[in-house]
Amino acid sequence: MTDTELKALGVVRNADLKPLTTFAVPAKAKFYVEVKSLDALRRVLSHPELSREPRLVLGGGSNILFTKDFDGLVIGMRIDFLEEIGQTEHSRTIRVGAGRSWSQTVDETLERGWPGLENLALVPGTVGGAAVQNIGAYGLEAAERITKVECLDARTLEPCVLDVDECDYGYRSSIFKSEQCADLIVVSVVLELPKVFEPRIAYKELAAVFADAKPQTPMEVAQAVKSIRRKKLPDPAELPNAGSFFKNPVVTRIKQRHLLEDMPQLVSYPLAGGRAKLAAGWLIEAVGMKGKRAGDAAVYDRQALVLVNYGNATGEQIKALADEVAGKVRLRFGVKLEPEPVII
Ligand SMILES: Cc1cc2nc3c(=O)[nH]c(=O)nc-3n(C[C@H](O)[C@H](O)[C@H](O)COP(=O)(O)OP(=O)(O)OC[C@H]3O[C@@H](n4cnc5c(N)ncnc54)[C@H](O)[C@@H]3O)c2cc1C
Repeated sequence: MTDTELKALGVVRNADLKPLTTFAVPAKAKFYVEVKSLDALRRVLSHPELSREPRLVLGGGSNILFTKDFDGLVIGMRIDFLEEIGQTEHSRTIRVGAGRSWSQTVDETLERGWPGLENLALVPGTVGGAAVQNIGAYGLEAAERITKVECLDARTLEPCVLDVDECDYGYRSSIFKSEQCADLIVVSVVLELPKVFEPRIAYKELAAVFADAKPQTPMEVAQAVKSIRRKKLPDPAELPNAGSFFKNPVVTRIKQRHLLEDMPQLVSYPLAGGRAKLAAGWLIEAVGMKGKRAGDAAVYDRQALVLVNYGNATGEQIKALADEVAGKVRLRFGVKLEPEPVII
């Protein structure tokens, strides 16, 4: 492949990925290209040599950890638009480009007076990333608002639209993370927003903010969520991280009961189907790993669920620290901690 050919497609060889992820660890991509339209994406994918390369889509890079270079094509998703495509008496439907910032999308819908996404204010990353990871925060998951996910099949270059029921959404998971969907690139997401504002404030910290007076507008909820988030989570621009590094483990109620007999202070929540969710942050703190530092990789000293990079940590070092944390939790409690970010 000649440099002229690559240039014509906007493809950069041996690209630095460090500024493109919120963990800011060193990594290179053999090829990197940013795509702003479906046509541009098709052009890149139809190139005979590029189409044979291993492929990875990067949104905002806020839930990914590179432990090594990527020997293939990294596609920076930048398809960015927001349009209203329909409404009923009770709801409004919008279609949003996968490369649009999620947080901006939330703000924009609220500014237009459309409730529905306020609990997910300030979650970093793109709309496509949100649909892949099924983001959740403060009592709401993206899957509750998504109705369709529009994709391009990178192998056939044909569109492929999945209804929400086909996306197999679960806790921070979706069909897009499975092998069977490895060729699907999310290009836009359709969301249905309720017209009437129904405050969702049962989440402990939100309930405390609104203990005396219920919020009258979705903006009030978004402001409360933003203020709680700013206090709890480090800003990746100042201290690189990927948000919660571990999922809260789900165990059987029997296991929960056994753990509570030993540790009555354990933070856990009952779930349907005889299961319970344990607070991973509590487990990590209980094994003494909160604030643990290994070089520049560390467990954040104010929130044990977050791993941070104090400057020059490599992805391997962060992964090694995560393994140490998970190993200690497993040994002490017999509970498996799974990482939330995608590890490359
Ligand atoms: C400070 C901080 C706070 C956070 N808080 C939360 C939170 O409250 N709740 C929560 O759920 N998450 C949270 N996260 C995690 C993160 O914001 C979300 O997972 C986000 O949706 C990731 O989106 P992204 O565009 O950055 O995805 P990336 O990190 O770029 O990619 C993540 C995965 O999705 C794939 N992907 C991305 N875009 C596409 C696409 N268009 N097509 C196909 N595959 C794609 C990538 O290949 C990769 O496998 C937080 C992260 C940070 C840094």
